[in-house]
Amino acid sequence: MDKLVDNNAENGAPERGTAPHGAGDNPVDEARRRMEARADEADREALAAAIPRAGEDTPLAMELAENARRRIQLTGRAFPKPATPRVLTVANQKGGVGKTTTTVNIAAALAQSGLQVLVIDLDPQGNASTALGIDHHAEVPSIYDVLVDGTPLLEVVQPCATVANLHCAPATIDLAGAEIELVSLVARESRLQKAIAAAITAGHAFDYILIDCPPSLGLLTVNAMVAASEVFIPIQCEYYALEGLSQLLKNIELIKHHLNPALHVSTILLTMYDGRTRLSAQVADEVREHFPVEVLRTSVPRSVRVSEAPSFGETVMTYDPSSSGALAYLAAAGEIADRGAAGQS
Ligand code: ADP
Ligand code: MG
Repeated sequence: MDKLVDNNAENGAPERGTAPHGAGDNPVDEARRRMEARADEADREALAAAIPRAGEDTPLAMELAENARRRIQLTGRAFPKPATPRVLTVANQKGGVGKTTTTVNIAAALAQSGLQVLVIDLDPQGNASTALGIDHHAEVPSIYDVLVDGTPLLEVVQPCATVANLHCAPATIDLAGAEIELVSLVARESRLQKAIAAAITAGHAFDYILIDCPPSLGLLTVNAMVAASEVFIPIQCEYYALEGLSQLLKNIELIKHHLNPALHVSTILLTMYDGRTRLSAQVADEVREHFPVEVLRTSVPRSVRVSEAPSFGETVMTYDPSSSGALAYLAAAGEIADRGAAGQS
């Protein structure tokens, strides 16, 4: 636990219970803070509205204008806290659709906007740990120890050096064996759920817990779906995007029926959107038609900066915060936080 607190102090982040959320404020301070936030929001909206609209025939100008609007509306805005911690499992059994990229960047965007966030890396490849710059060589205490040996979750959590309020339970190569080792253990499907519940009661009040799943529907993914009440599906805007989705939805229904009645798909994010192709637009339209409520308004464009960031052990949110990829993830995270605070999750 000390590690978690130290990280916040080093990064100069607000302590829990002080600004921007002010849980411990007296009513006058609290009212003043709300008024200031509303005035700030109104200023941002007015500025954003003043940006001239570009014609649809000039995609580059449109992108620049959209980025400028997002920068003004979102950068430095404090996102609202959910009433209770939200646990989201980022799942899609297809590989390479943007699960890990989405997990780490949404997590970083929420944390940068004042929320306490934990990423649980549940993929033996450990890509989320790498992207967050978290040490995850073979000897590091990891989520494997939590699942297989019952080590308390907070004992393996490490702070992210580049983003305050962001923490990660890393995955090491050991996790590759967990899928098989779990089979013979007691309560094999609910071990992660118990670990998270114990961590929340034991102390650190995370606002968001995001679980990055491997590209399969095995016991690790089942643990993630028993631990969460929300499934967050990234969908890549390409031809086979919807293939395999029905299998994922069937599995979610099975887990809901047998193991976790609260489980539901709350959020879908379209990723790697390429505005120059008709295919991307067609896939996006089709997904929105099937899931009108779940799909976020924001889609994430294909962007070199997004794919470069992990090799520097950073999310794009710090690697290049004004890039279109970072601004899209910030906008998507804002939508998620607003829905959560409005009780629409
Ligand atoms: P998954 O976790 O589903 O396997 P990843 O998040 O690892 O998928 O993404 C697969 C690959 O696509 C990675 O190399 C990643 O850097 C790249 N990628 C993801 N999102 C974007 C994007 N918006 N623009 C460009 N490349 C992306
Ligand atoms: Mg991944």
